[in-house]
Amino acid sequence: MGLRIDEATFLERAISRFGARYDYSQMTYKSYRTPIKIRCVEHPVREVVITPERHLQTTGGCKYCLRTYRNQTLERVLRMECETSELPAPLLPRAPQGAAGAGQKSEAV
Ligand SMILES: [Zn+2]
Repeated sequence: MGLRIDEATFLERAISRFGARYDYSQMTYKSYRTPIKIRCVEHPVREVVITPERHLQTTGGCKYCLRTYRNQTLERVLRMECETSELPAPLLPRAPQGAAGAGQKSEAV
């Protein structure tokens, strides 16, 4: 009620969120809840059909980008685990991030 997002507002938000990652030139904007067709600049082979609402709430709708994003997150986690286990000093002043399951390695050493 009241909050109506028009095309200009949507584009403004989308660009502030994704920059130039998506191409909006082909879309026909009807309403915030009506699916639009956009293209991911990096993966233009596949058109993205998504509502403006979901586009702004997710990683944008490109499945390839989502996969890349997930891989990067996973890589970052793996790399962190590698780095900590490669460190020679076992007594790092490392605050445990989660309450449970953090300190298996250090006890073994
Ligand atoms: Zn993409």
